[in-house]
Amino acid sequence: MMNTATDKKEEFSVLEERKDSILYKYEGGCSGTGIRCDSDSVSGAVSQRACVYCGARVVLNPITDAFHIVHGPIGCASYTWDIRGSLSSGEEIYRNSFSTDLREKDVIFGGERKLEAGIEEIALKYHPRLLFVYATCIVGVIGDDVDAVCKSMSKKYDMQVIPVKSPGFSGNKATGYKMACNAIMQLLLPYKNREKRNGINILGDFNLAGEMWIIKNYMKEIGIDVVATFTGDSSYENMIKAPAARLNIVQCAGSSTYLANRMQEEMDIPYIKVSFFGIEDTTNSLLRIAGAMKDEKALQKAEEFCNRKARELEGFLETYKKGLEGKRAAVYVGGGFKAISLIRQFKSLGMKTVLVGTQTGKPEDYEVIESIAEKDTVILDDANPAELEKFMIEKKPDILVGGVKERPLAYKLGIAFCDHNHERKHPLAGFEGVINFTKEISDGILNPVWKYVRQ
Ligand code: SF4
Repeated sequence: MMNTATDKKEEFSVLEERKDSILYKYEGGCSGTGIRCDSDSVSGAVSQRACVYCGARVVLNPITDAFHIVHGPIGCASYTWDIRGSLSSGEEIYRNSFSTDLREKDVIFGGERKLEAGIEEIALKYHPRLLFVYATCIVGVIGDDVDAVCKSMSKKYDMQVIPVKSPGFSGNKATGYKMACNAIMQLLLPYKNREKRNGINILGDFNLAGEMWIIKNYMKEIGIDVVATFTGDSSYENMIKAPAARLNIVQCAGSSTYLANRMQEEMDIPYIKVSFFGIEDTTNSLLRIAGAMKDEKALQKAEEFCNRKARELEGFLETYKKGLEGKRAAVYVGGGFKAISLIRQFKSLGMKTVLVGTQTGKPEDYEVIESIAEKDTVILDDANPAELEKFMIEKKPDILVGGVKERPLAYKLGIAFCDHNHERKHPLAGFEGVINFTKEISDGILNPVWKYVRQ
């Protein structure tokens, strides 16, 4: 059964308010109450979640020909400057960061003039078609009318200037995802009645290290047309075609399910959630996409393609499994779907996941995690470094899979680390990703350095 941390008080020194966000899996199933998740972080708990603005920025940033003005102090802009390893097959302008650099005087007298001047400078110099304006914390406090400025500048320069109201204090990273999805919808709604065509949109893939291209190649292989992508390697022209698609597939559920829901309600495009991490989930996803498109030919092609790819990987995986069998993994990632795929991927390598957590997992994600997690696994939502440290010392994983914030913690504890977040430079999705992931896990865990570090 599954007990909350409260049941093991003497063993945990976590904050009282955090105890319902940590579960211990025991033999025989789960408790009826489930984990506390999808809620605001506990004040003072040092959540690893980013702020609302950062959540919005990371979703919109990969649009290759969009301009982003951060209306706020320069720190907000530098915090998110080019932070994703999203690749582009066209424009590179998205890798720049523009800011109104608000100072004390602007906070007292208002920053609208500065924002107008900033938009004007970009309009005259670059003639963009699409510009996002992010209102960060201080703008939420002083109350600049960002909507009005965006509206008048849109009209004056005949371009889309879209406000993204994302003061960091107005929620958590998931609120920022929602703000980004609303901004995308503002862009799409004028085109909502486009005639439908036989194709899909890919949502929640940010083309990290070229992963969107891998998925697009798979679609080509099975004969399914991709209409638009959100937001990896996308552009203004590409995105406004999206309302014509028959199906949305959602890869990063945490950031893009809200967009998929709105597109379903307002454009009549159904969606399915998919994952391309690991052989099992990649295969299931391709079959489900072909099935959802009611395309028999694509289904047959997907079956053949996946079987061939799995056969090609058999020998490779057997070789690596020899060194990895029985090793232990800890997983702390952004969304629930990725965590679920990683548990399965480690299982296929003969490894056991002993700790698993997410920043923005939903109750339905945790239900799956609880059902597939092995006995004695610690499951935690919105963890802080102290909790991660405590449970890693207790569970003794050989590797931690996480994001950049978790890397120093793993190394300080003498544990190997695998970056599965947006800064990595090699793809981990699809069948190609299985090779990279397995090699990275193996190189990390079997590195001789650990025997000196852990002495
Ligand atoms: S929006 Fe607020 S919390 Fe986010 S980076 Fe700017 S000042 Fe910090």
